[in-house]
Amino acid sequence: MEDSPGKTRKRVAMPMSFDRVLYRIMTGSWGKFVFHPGPCSLEGASIPNPVGIYVHIPFCRSICPFCPYNKVLYEREIAKSYSHCLNSETKQIISDLNGARISSIYFGGGTPLTLPGAIESLVGLMRPHLVPGADIAVEVHPDDIVPSTIDCMRETGVEMVSLGVESLDNEVLNRLGRSHDPATAVRALETLIDTGGFSVNVDLITGIPGQSTESVLSDMTQIFKYGVDQVSAYPLMDFPFTSIRSPLSLREQLRLLTAIDSAGSRAGYERSSVWTWTKPSARKYTSITREYYIGIGVGAASHLGRRFWLNTFSVESYINAIGAGTSPVALSTPLSAMESALYWLFWRCYEGTFDLQAPEALSIPALPHLVNALERLGLARRISSVVRLTDLGLFLYHILERYYTRRYIGRLWQCCRTSAFPPGIDM
Ligand code: SF4
Repeated sequence: MEDSPGKTRKRVAMPMSFDRVLYRIMTGSWGKFVFHPGPCSLEGASIPNPVGIYVHIPFCRSICPFCPYNKVLYEREIAKSYSHCLNSETKQIISDLNGARISSIYFGGGTPLTLPGAIESLVGLMRPHLVPGADIAVEVHPDDIVPSTIDCMRETGVEMVSLGVESLDNEVLNRLGRSHDPATAVRALETLIDTGGFSVNVDLITGIPGQSTESVLSDMTQIFKYGVDQVSAYPLMDFPFTSIRSPLSLREQLRLLTAIDSAGSRAGYERSSVWTWTKPSARKYTSITREYYIGIGVGAASHLGRRFWLNTFSVESYINAIGAGTSPVALSTPLSAMESALYWLFWRCYEGTFDLQAPEALSIPALPHLVNALERLGLARRISSVVRLTDLGLFLYHILERYYTRRYIGRLWQCCRTSAFPPGIDM
């Protein structure tokens, strides 16, 4: 974070908001995040070893009005050009890795299985650089679970899938504008479980208008019965550019989260983050809590500790940039050592636990005082150096995460949706 020479950057008046005060307490300074226009490359960067890879495939067969992610309707010719560009960007990144190994590959979207051939080809390029046992994971849409995609994933070595069920209530699915019905979701789930060899996460969405707590709990009970490895019950997030808003008050959100957690515990699952419940000893599906990752594709983000950057959100501009051999990066921001440590802490709190002896924790002088305060308020418990958020602490994080999503991610994504290469933004 720094002041930049950007002449045309959009300056946004900063009210004395809660997050600025928190930033001041944690860092001792009044800072703000400044995103500069690209380019930004791996050349000369210190690359953590190993590092995760995220690949964004933005194509969908229909667009759901609640969805904030960077996606476009599938068009065959554009998808073909995009696949070629993914290959080129991946080759460039492999050559810039400088010997660093790849710890995981996550394919997200959009709907990654609109391009099964690209998944196969990109994994093929990265395979020689994978650490043993690396996660190869794909987000899948229920409509896409058919014999040919199952074969493709098995042959490619995909072992982890996240199935976007969202709800098993037809009315709720209609309200979300999803193209699948409950029967298709159940069929996809049964196929994945019966095929075997996949660690399965199921995504659900909660807090949808008209969705009752009973409906959410009924979904969870049905899904737990299949013995899936993980269930993620994400709250419907409010973004400036999505058309469905969650009607739940804070009290209703707390009641719902408590009821979901009880259902998870009754089924023998452990809470592995604020919104996920994982079977003991199962592999955790988590594309967002990787410490260091490089993003490939349109709108993909990268974080290497002291740098964070985002590729352009425009498919056309991405294809043009890669085709011309120029950088697809739209915005980037340097991070101070303290900001990098806070980024680490934010995601460890998402997972509900962190170690005060971790190097990042040791570099935040205010952290022991914060933990003392959280303990006194019943929001965290400490055993030796390990801190665990209590249920109430996780609910506080739930509120914080929703706030930060709206305040930072919503504004950043809005800026990148408006312009393929924005002039920069102060947050
Ligand atoms: S929810 Fe999934 S299928 Fe729907 S628009 Fe978003 S990425 Fe596409």
